Parts: sequence; C-alpha cells; structure tokens
Amino acid sequence: MLTRIKGGRVVDPANGRDGVGDVWFRDGRIVDAPAGDNGADDTYDAAGKVVMAGAIDIHSHIAGSNVNTARLLMPELQGAVAVARPQTPLASAGWGTFATGCRYAGMGFTTVVEPAVAPDYALHAHLELADIPIIDKATLSVLGNDDYLLSLMRASESASAVRDYVAWTLATSRALGIKVINAGGAVAFKANMREFSLDDVVPFYGVSSRAIVKTLQRAVHELGVPHPLHVHCNNLGLAGNADTALATIAAAEGLPLHLAHLQFYGYGKEGGRGFSSAAARLAEAVNATKSVTVDVGQVMFGQTVTISSDVLRQFNARKGASPRKWLIFDGDANGGGIVPYNYRAADFYNAVQWCVGLELFLLIDDPSRVFFTTDHPNGAPFTTYPDIFALLMDRDLRAQWIEGLPPAVKEVTTLASIKREYSLDEVATMTRAAPAKLLGLADRGHLAPGAVADVAVYADDADRAKMFRAASLVFKDGDLVVRDGEVTHYRWGRALTVVPGHDRAIERRMRDYYSERYGLSAEVMAGVPAAAIGRPDPFEQVPCAR
Ligand SMILES: [Zn+2]
Repeated sequence: MLTRIKGGRVVDPANGRDGVGDVWFRDGRIVDAPAGDNGADDTYDAAGKVVMAGAIDIHSHIAGSNVNTARLLMPELQGAVAVARPQTPLASAGWGTFATGCRYAGMGFTTVVEPAVAPDYALHAHLELADIPIIDKATLSVLGNDDYLLSLMRASESASAVRDYVAWTLATSRALGIKVINAGGAVAFKANMREFSLDDVVPFYGVSSRAIVKTLQRAVHELGVPHPLHVHCNNLGLAGNADTALATIAAAEGLPLHLAHLQFYGYGKEGGRGFSSAAARLAEAVNATKSVTVDVGQVMFGQTVTISSDVLRQFNARKGASPRKWLIFDGDANGGGIVPYNYRAADFYNAVQWCVGLELFLLIDDPSRVFFTTDHPNGAPFTTYPDIFALLMDRDLRAQWIEGLPPAVKEVTTLASIKREYSLDEVATMTRAAPAKLLGLADRGHLAPGAVADVAVYADDADRAKMFRAASLVFKDGDLVVRDGEVTHYRWGRALTVVPGHDRAIERRMRDYYSERYGLSAEVMAGVPAAAIGRPDPFEQVPCAR
C-alpha cells in the first residue's frame, strides 16, 4: 500500500530538508514520490503541520529488575504515566509496560533504549520490553563491576580476551551496546568504601576506575559497536563533581565516549551554600572534545523515583528519600538502589539542578552531540518531555519559570542570561538524526527513501508543549498507530541488537566460569533465547563497523 503524507513542513535535518512537501511510504519503508500522476492508496493531509521521523530516546529506564522494584516501592507513582488497560486487570495499574509504549508513541517516539541491564537479568528485561507495545526497544548491558572483567584486568589478560568477553556479553544478552556505571564503585561499596573516584583503585582487584573505563571503551570501539561506551561517571550528584566529569571527558583521549545524564555531574562548590552550576565549564569541554557525546538527564519539578545500579551513590542518597522509604541491594556486579525523590522548585538545590540541565542543552553548540533525556525516571518521568521542548524553544518561558525559583539560584547559574532558542530543525537533530547515528541505526531518524516509515506529524502549535505532547499522527513501520496523541492501533515492536564476532573459545570459558560459580549454564544465567519472546522475529540485528 502506497501512503502519502501531503503538504506538511518536513523537518528532516539528516537530509538537509526543512520545507513544505510530501513524505511517501510503502510496505513500512519511506519511498520516493512516484513518477507521474500515480495516486496514493492513502493520503493524509498535513497542511499546517510538522512532519518528522519518529523520535529516538537513548536513555530511559523502562524495563528490568530495578524498574520493577521501583514499581513495587512506589505504587503511588502510577498516576505519572497511567493509561487504562481494561482488557488485562493486572496491568491496568498504570506505570507498566503498556502505558510506557502508549505514552511514548503518543508523543511521536518510536524507538527507546533501556540503558542499564545487568547481563544476568537480560532475559527478564527482554521479556518485559517485549510487552511494551508499538515502539522498538534496545538495551545496554552493564559491565565494569563484574568479577569476570575485573579478574581479566587483574591478570593483565590481553585486549582480545576483553573484546571476546564484551562481544560474548552483547550477543548473549542481546544488547545494542555496553554501559559502565560508576566503574568499580559497586565493588568498592561492598568493601565499605563510601567514596570512589576516577583514579581510586578497586579493592581486591587492584585496578582503577579509569582503567576499567578505558578498557571497556577500547573494547567497544575495536569491536566496531556503533554506540560508544556509555559511561555513568563516579560521584553522581555531589557538589564539585564537575571535576570528575571533566576528567572523564579528558580520558576519552580521542576515542568515542558517551557520558550519560551529564546534568547530575554539573555541580561546582561556589556560592554561599557551596553548590553552584558548573554547566558552562562542562559545555566548554564538550564543545572542544569532538569524540564525546552526552545526554542531559534534565530535572523537572515533581515527585519521581530514582533508579540506579550505582549502589554506592544510592546508599549515600538514601536519607534524602521522599517519601521516606528506600531500597538498596547488593548483588553480583552492580546491585542497585531505589530512592524516591521529590524535586521542588522552592528548593535551592533542586532549582540549581533544573538550571544546570537547561544550561547544558543551551551551551553545548552542536545539537548532534547533546541528547534529550531526563534519565527517566531519575530526573523526571519521560512524560515531561513536551515541557522541556517548550523550555528549550522559548526564552520567555524560561524567564517565567526562573522567576518562580529561589532568588539565590540566579547567583550561581547562568541560565537567565542565555538567549538561545532551539529551532525545530535542532530539536529534530537532537531527537532523531543524531540518536540514530549514535546508535548505528542507519534506517532511522530520517525520512530518505529506504528508511523505516516511522513518522510523527505534529500540529504546528505556538504552544510547543501542547504540540509535542500529542502527535496528530504517528506511523510505526508504516502502520498508523496514533491519532491526536491517542493510540488507535496496537502492534509489537522489535528489540535492536548488535552481534560483533568473537572467538568461539570464550563460549567454553564462560560455560566453565558459570558452572564453577553458580552451578548453572551460562545460557541459563545470561542467555536470551528468541523462542522465549514467543513472537516471530523479535530481534533485529544492527550491523557493526567491523
Ligand atoms: Zn540512567
């Protein structure tokens, strides 16, 4: 079936397109306009509307054991992303898989990455992702606090031994990339260390946090995995931690490196309260370091719950829990912690955090190297995205919000002085073209012939929050799935994976390792059999560079 989206303003920065025109697709793929007078089977009038590729979220905690634990701890958050699901009572509670797919699709998002899956919990994460309707998904597998990698490093094993292990982990856990969370910090936590920075040494293994980051960065790069190592730095949330982020940026040393939720590392120690924005310094470093990309992790005011495998940080943050309940668990490798949190505009520290995120968005020049995230739900639920788009696109709106913050905030932040406003083209770069490139998804994030027909059509409303909250039309693989922000058709997406090659000998080594430590096979512990998903072709393989 040939479909035409007619006469909208097509904003497609990957192809240098921003103007009124048509988008055509057939059988789930974008196609050229047919020659001559060939009519479409289906035509959607997009006059006065904005047409973009489906948006891609590179970092949002939407599945896995920590997310489920947070749901158990915070049933009162259900309203945040609630969508009625009358046909299955158990899932109608709201903050679940079903609402996640519906809410993302309603805003024009068609691909979302869950960025923190422990390899040994990959099957559970994938089963849960498979229950999220409409959108495509992917995972990042977490390494860097795991005994196997640290043992390889302690024994000074070769780079190829590390590569084989990383490749095996990606293939077995069906991930799209590798993340490291406070490298070595979780192991240090188990040895009762409560502070851990880039050059601190992991007890028992004798390797530094920096060495872990560099080892994984190199392995991911040499395997040709498109997405660079995704780094959650040390010292999250602490005053003065901008120095840690700057040191980590410098540690990229010319190779690709992605820093997650940089806002949480944007803090100096200036001002009367010893807490200030260091966003300008960080933005300057990012602007100057072309091999580094970042996502923001914007804070928005309201109740949320922080979910992290950075067990050391979550333990230290537990006393700030609001409401006063929290859960910390040690486990193999990272463990994790769930700490509810209520960001308040009247709170000096929270207000500075809010400013830091927006400053990073606005002071990093290149929208293809700064990515749009709230680190859902850590900075805010993803349902706040439309309000953030509006803030980025309208300095008057920002000024109104700033007026409502404690006056002292202006003394330690630069946000009020920033005039920049994002254009639609820059929004499309940051949420479509750039994330597709960062993840190696050549057929997404743009609207050239051959691309997946993931298309979002928005009313060109001066109220940008309203515009991005409810897409007029959303197509996934060419199927119309959303009208006026409401899902009209349910379908199942796929999970995107990479499978770099590895030496077969690693399979035997991992079998031996798992059987010795757990008495179980590696496949049972870490494997994700396609048959478990119970649907045809649940995975789609993304090519590696070598
Ligand atoms: Zn995160």
